Amino acid sequence: MSSSSKIFDLESLVRPNILRLKPYRSARDDFKDGILLDANENPFESYTIDGEHPLNRYPDPHYDAVRQALAHWKKVRPSQIFLGNGSDEAIDLLIRMTCIPGKDSILITSPTYGMYKVSADIHDVNIIDVPLHPDFSLNTEEVIKASQNAKLVFLCSPNNPTANVLDKASILSILQHAPGIVGVDEAYMDFSPNNSLLSELDAWPNLVVMQTFSKAIGLAGIRLGMAFASEEIIKILMKIKPPYNVNALTQQEALRSLENPSEIHQKILEITENRTQLINDLSRISGVEHIFPSDANFLLVRFEDALETYKKLASAGVIVRYRGDQLHCDGCLRITVGTEDENKMLIEKLEAIYS
Ligand code: PMP
Repeated sequence: MSSSSKIFDLESLVRPNILRLKPYRSARDDFKDGILLDANENPFESYTIDGEHPLNRYPDPHYDAVRQALAHWKKVRPSQIFLGNGSDEAIDLLIRMTCIPGKDSILITSPTYGMYKVSADIHDVNIIDVPLHPDFSLNTEEVIKASQNAKLVFLCSPNNPTANVLDKASILSILQHAPGIVGVDEAYMDFSPNNSLLSELDAWPNLVVMQTFSKAIGLAGIRLGMAFASEEIIKILMKIKPPYNVNALTQQEALRSLENPSEIHQKILEITENRTQLINDLSRISGVEHIFPSDANFLLVRFEDALETYKKLASAGVIVRYRGDQLHCDGCLRITVGTEDENKMLIEKLEAIYS
């Protein structure tokens, strides 16, 4: 399939004020070493708890060390990487970059991750919703048609809350025909045997792939999200981000985690094994009507009485997410795959509820 470069024109997509914008220049843009009297910092050193890293200085605004390490891991160039305060920041900045409030639109495919709509609502940006089919697959033809009026299309694969990966040929077809940016949210891709679209980055100037340290890497607490795209798109995201959007502790912890990829792979393996066990155990619960296939670290499960089950689980101390109010998800709870012990507790409580 040929790439969409024939119809993709980044300049016409980016808001004119953003194209014109002279970004804030932070003190650390030019010099990182020397006698640093340029940033009104406190000269007295204060350190991280391990005593190794000074905290009285502003962090590297371009997070070069983390980008280098990630580029190596993800097989992309450092200039193709944006980092943010969670991938939620990338979602927000993509909307800010392209959509004029009160005028422009993004396209989403319900049921899907809630922050695309919330971010759009915050910016007073219109939402075009082309729902997934009831089997949670993309309505590709309708997405392509409706995308003609959207600056940005968000596709979530594996999708939250439905747990399935979206068909790769459908995503490529949307990339080919949509005039705007296509943001593919791969927050859960490491739990899937399917391949990331990162390998497609050089072929599609309108592709942005989002990933996160919050799920497979197991560092939701440090708030670090990634967006991978063409150098041109990354340059604009870097221009509009808050100057020091990734703090020093987060950069340090990210580097530490990337030095131990086997630790990350071990966690992924354990979670996917626990997922298989949890599916087996849930299928023996009488109130469970259907367990949807999962490519993520959670299961979407249809129950006889989901709301009642949700409430009873909560009062027994097990918190899951009620998703019965989402399109095509009637009667469904979304259950995160926990540790072996946590999953056993969940099953015990469900057995008690349905005994
Ligand atoms: N995308 C999806 C699909 C998610 O489910 C989530 C969090 N639940 C995020 C993005 C946000 O991730 P982060 O913690 O990096 O902001």
